[in-house]
Amino acid sequence: MSQPVSVDVVIVGGGLAGLAAARRLDRAGVNWLLVEAADRIGGRVATDVVDGWRLDRGFQVLNTAYPRVPALVDVDALEMRYFTSGVLVRRGGALHRLENPLREPRSAVRTLTSGVGTLADRLKFAALATRYATVPPARLLDAPEMTTQEALRRAGLSHRMIEEVLRPFLSGVFADRSLDTSSHVLAMVLRSFARGRIGVPAGGMAALPAAVAGPLPYPQLLIGARTLSVGPGLVVTDGGEIHCRAAIVATDPATAATLLPQLPAPDMRGLTTYYFGADQAPIGEPTLLLDGDRREIVANTVVMSNAAPEYAPAGRSLIAASSVGVSAPSGASEAVIRVELARMYGVPTDDWELLSVVTLPHALPAANVPQARLRKPVALGDGLFVAGDHRDSPSIQGALASGWRTAGAVLASLGATVPTPA
Ligand SMILES: Cc1cc2nc3c(=O)[nH]c(=O)nc-3n(C[C@H](O)[C@H](O)[C@H](O)COP(=O)(O)OP(=O)(O)OC[C@H]3O[C@@H](n4cnc5c(N)ncnc54)[C@H](O)[C@@H]3O)c2cc1C
Repeated sequence: MSQPVSVDVVIVGGGLAGLAAARRLDRAGVNWLLVEAADRIGGRVATDVVDGWRLDRGFQVLNTAYPRVPALVDVDALEMRYFTSGVLVRRGGALHRLENPLREPRSAVRTLTSGVGTLADRLKFAALATRYATVPPARLLDAPEMTTQEALRRAGLSHRMIEEVLRPFLSGVFADRSLDTSSHVLAMVLRSFARGRIGVPAGGMAALPAAVAGPLPYPQLLIGARTLSVGPGLVVTDGGEIHCRAAIVATDPATAATLLPQLPAPDMRGLTTYYFGADQAPIGEPTLLLDGDRREIVANTVVMSNAAPEYAPAGRSLIAASSVGVSAPSGASEAVIRVELARMYGVPTDDWELLSVVTLPHALPAANVPQARLRKPVALGDGLFVAGDHRDSPSIQGALASGWRTAGAVLASLGATVPTPA
């Protein structure tokens, strides 16, 4: 499609935030155009299909309790493949289970007698999860803000429970080994884990942005057009100038700070995912396995194909292993990961086929204290707006909610009728 010279609203970036903004503008009948630099929509949510393997661009999951997800997509149509609610922890030569008593009440007794942490720890953790799951979000965000580490300590959890279970788990979620992430982000994330189920679409995580984009008129998605500058009333792409009444910068956080110099350059956190193929699954269940031995090399690992057989060719198993941070892929680092996975699963890994190493230095924006109520300003004045996970929580929910909220601000500025959120 050739680039128009004038529209009401230009959205720069076709990740989840940009797509959610487009959905709201489209519903309001506004004349909009989305320009995306890559050759596909979806941004940080992507899937590569290689020789029958579905390899998400970095291990990530969709949580069904994210409020903005069912508002924008038919979750059933995604054919979700779910992971077990709860985790396994490798510690001291044995596997221990910690279940989510809110999701699987019948497992509560098992959880109370399982080997992760002390009984007091498990009760305190259940109380914390229950509080996050049941107290309204507005009240959770009114609570005093502190680091995640401090919030866990104040909840009375023991050093061992934090170090052997919660640090490995949360460091993978936040890409933050030090647990400096805001307790307000912790509250929202644990709330979703406690209330929802986690899984992946049968077709890969890329099915999510495809579903968000589904109802949009395709010609208004300009793919492969890089935006070079954004100013009041004017967006310049490598295809020329577009005059507009408003522009939404919904790029990744670093690009947003380049296009809109009034934004601070964000601190970004890195994640690395190793994908291995095996003839036999090392365990038989679709459960996240954490390293409770505090080696801090692999944060979590899971047999993807135990949940989603579609992720592997027939008869093979796909194992994902994530570590916090990035280092250049090398034979040495691969060897270390194999050793760690052999210890965690308790099986040899020498014959596993290394399929891919996904290194993402800019996986997530840091969300250190203070994040306040997680909703950062999106209207910058002069018809300029910003959306993305860096304006909300660093998550799929944060990106979708931010895009929706920003489109509402644009509609208000244009004087258009703002539709009631679905
Ligand atoms: C490895 C990994 C694991 C994750 N795990 C989870 C998880 O389990 N659960 C969860 O909820 N979240 C997870 N996330 C976070 C989630 O994926 C992101 O928060 C979300 O996808 C961000 O969406 P966005 O639209 O804000 O930004 P992006 O996805 O970064 O989209 C920005 C878009 O802007 C485009 N763009 C950039 N520059 C330009 C330009 N100059 N011109 C035009 N277009 C441009 C980009 O190509 C991109 O498409 C994970 C992220 C990663 C990377």
